[in-house]
Amino acid sequence: MKVIYPGSFDPVTYGHLDIIKRCSEKFDDVIIGVLNNVSKKGLFTVEERMNLLKETTSQFKNVEISSFSGLLADFAKDKKCSTMIRGLRAVSDYEYEMQMALVNKKLDPEIETLFMVSRSEYVYLSSSIVKEIALHNGNISSFVPEIVEKEMKNKIRGDF
Ligand code: ADP
Repeated sequence: MKVIYPGSFDPVTYGHLDIIKRCSEKFDDVIIGVLNNVSKKGLFTVEERMNLLKETTSQFKNVEISSFSGLLADFAKDKKCSTMIRGLRAVSDYEYEMQMALVNKKLDPEIETLFMVSRSEYVYLSSSIVKEIALHNGNISSFVPEIVEKEMKNKIRGDF
């Protein structure tokens, strides 16, 4: 089975990477769909997010990195894949995830959204909290791989 794991990945964290690893073990092919959200400016550009994902998932041979703008339902059609994976952390994720899953099903009844429960050690982890900590010079080494940490520091220092 082929699945799509969509998200912002701004930037990828150990929480995302755990879901990607588990998907790559359970499914034949995994497409990571990086959302190009024009109304929300990220810390990293979509290309930078994709590069970080490529670097940190290169050991998984059945994982492909792609990007999309617009509707996930259209991206799913393009990729000929109707199974979506989303990670669930706490109850707070539930309402939004439920809404997205139902909307996507309404747009395309073929779409199924499967939820993978976060590992307990990553339940608290999100890209936004990592950005917040990094902005205040906190230590993020247990939340993101070294390359992501380095690129975040460069970004925040304004090197590029
Ligand atoms: P979005 O902006 O679409 O929520 P994110 O990049 O924040 O995208 O997350 C993409 C997906 O990964 C979402 O399903 C989110 O719930 C999941 N996710 C993010 N962080 C974690 C984590 N620490 N553990 C498990 N799943 C996570």
